[in-house]
Amino acid sequence: MTKTPPFWETKTLGQMSQEEWESLCDGCGRCCLYILHNEETGDVFETDVACKLFDPKKRRCTDYENRSRRVPDCVRLTPQNAGALSWMPETCAYRRLARGERLPAWHPLITGERDSVARAGVAVPPDLIAEQDIDDDLLESRITRAR
Ligand code: SF4
Ligand code: SF4
Repeated sequence: MTKTPPFWETKTLGQMSQEEWESLCDGCGRCCLYILHNEETGDVFETDVACKLFDPKKRRCTDYENRSRRVPDCVRLTPQNAGALSWMPETCAYRRLARGERLPAWHPLITGERDSVARAGVAVPPDLIAEQDIDDDLLESRITRAR
């Protein structure tokens, strides 16, 4: 008996359907956090400050369809840029597949459970600060980890 390999092992990002593409997102929410770059060292730091459209309890964008218009800084992932966005979390499925890496064992496509990303400690916590509630000059004090 043979088992058909899943689409993420047989297709390139550019060959995937829209539905397949969207299903790669594990819902970690970490691309909706503010990050700080050290221009001298190239280091990237993650904060616990979230985009104004992010719902931290549901870990979802509240206006996904209009995100580019409402948040011009929101980077739209494509098969072309997914491997080059070095500030994205190393766990992100788009980045991993674009770089020839496998999906992690906790990925919801493998476990069949959306919450496996939270159980693996990869998802953002629910107690984030919204960007509209903090001054820009305090962002540095909100760094939680290097990325
Ligand atoms: S970092 Fe990647 S996997 Fe996580 S929410 Fe963003 S696009 Fe989805
Ligand atoms: S606009 Fe939506 S998808 Fe983009 S960073 Fe904000 S919450 Fe995330």
